[in-house]
Amino acid sequence: MTDSSSGSDASPPGKIWFVGAGPGDPDLITVKGRDLLRRAGAILYAGSLVDRAATRYAPPDCEIRDSKDMTLEEMVDWLCERAGRHALVVRLQTGDPALYGTLIEMTRPLTAAGIDWAVVPGVSSAMASMAAAGETMTLPEVTQTVILTRTAGRTPMPEGEDLESLAAHHCTLCVYLSATLIDEVQRALRAAGWRDDAPILVVQKASWPDEEKIVRGTLSDIKQKCRDEKIGSQAMIVASPTLGSAEWETLARSKLYDPAFSHRYRRASEAA
Ligand code: SAH
Repeated sequence: MTDSSSGSDASPPGKIWFVGAGPGDPDLITVKGRDLLRRAGAILYAGSLVDRAATRYAPPDCEIRDSKDMTLEEMVDWLCERAGRHALVVRLQTGDPALYGTLIEMTRPLTAAGIDWAVVPGVSSAMASMAAAGETMTLPEVTQTVILTRTAGRTPMPEGEDLESLAAHHCTLCVYLSATLIDEVQRALRAAGWRDDAPILVVQKASWPDEEKIVRGTLSDIKQKCRDEKIGSQAMIVASPTLGSAEWETLARSKLYDPAFSHRYRRASEAA
C-alpha cells in the first residue's frame, strides 16, 4: 500500500486528517473516516474518550499512539514528525472534531509548518444521546432550534453565552462537559424560567457497547437520579421541551409530510 509507506527525504510531507471517531461505538465512524484509518501510517488518538476499538481498522504496521498524556505542543510535534515519514497520518478525535476538540489550536502550527490537513466530520455525542433515548431535538410548533453549549469549567464562557441567557430561548439545549456541574445547569434553567417538572435527559457513554446509561428525570430530581446512577463524566445533559414527546397524546403535524402541503418533491393531494 503506497499511502502508508515511508517517504524518502525528498518526498513532501504527508497529509494529516482530523477524523471524527464518533461517540464511542466503532461502527459510528463514517465510511470515509474508516477508509482513512485503513490506509494510515500513523494514528494519534484521544484515548480518554475514543474507544481504542476505533483503531481496530488500522493496518498491522500502523504506529498507534494514545494522546492522553501529551500536551498540545507534543501532539503537534508528533503529528509533524509522522507526516515527514508517512503519506497519511490520522488524528482521531471523539465525536466531531469541530466541537470542543482543540482543532484550530492544532491546525495553525501545521499550516505554519507547510503541512496539509483536512477534517472528516463525526457523529457528535449530542446526536448519539438523542438516538440512544429515541428522542428528537426539533418538533413542529414546539422548538425548531438547538443550542450546543457547555457550562464554564476551566474555560470561561464568553459574554452573553452563560447558560441562563441561552436557556431563556426555551429551545433544545445540549450541554457538553458539564456532568459534574449539574447544580449549575439546574440553577441556570430555573433562573431562565424552566419549571421544576421540565424533563431533563442525561446520557452517559452514548453508543458505547454495554456501557451506555440513560437517565430521565425532571429539573428538580435529575441531580439525585444522576447521583444514584453514579454518572460522573462522559455524559450529555439535554434539556428540551421535546423530551418525552413519543408519549404525548397530541402532536402538531410536520408540514413536510402533511398531505395538504406541496413542496419540491411532492404535490399536495387534491383531497387534503
Ligand atoms: N467532540 C466531542 C465532544 C468533546 S467534549 C463530540 O462531538 O461529541 C467531551 C464531552 O462530550 C463530554 O464531557 C460529554 O459531555 C460529551 N461526550 C463525549 N462522548 C460522549 C458519549 N459517548 N455520550 C455522552 N456524552 C459524551
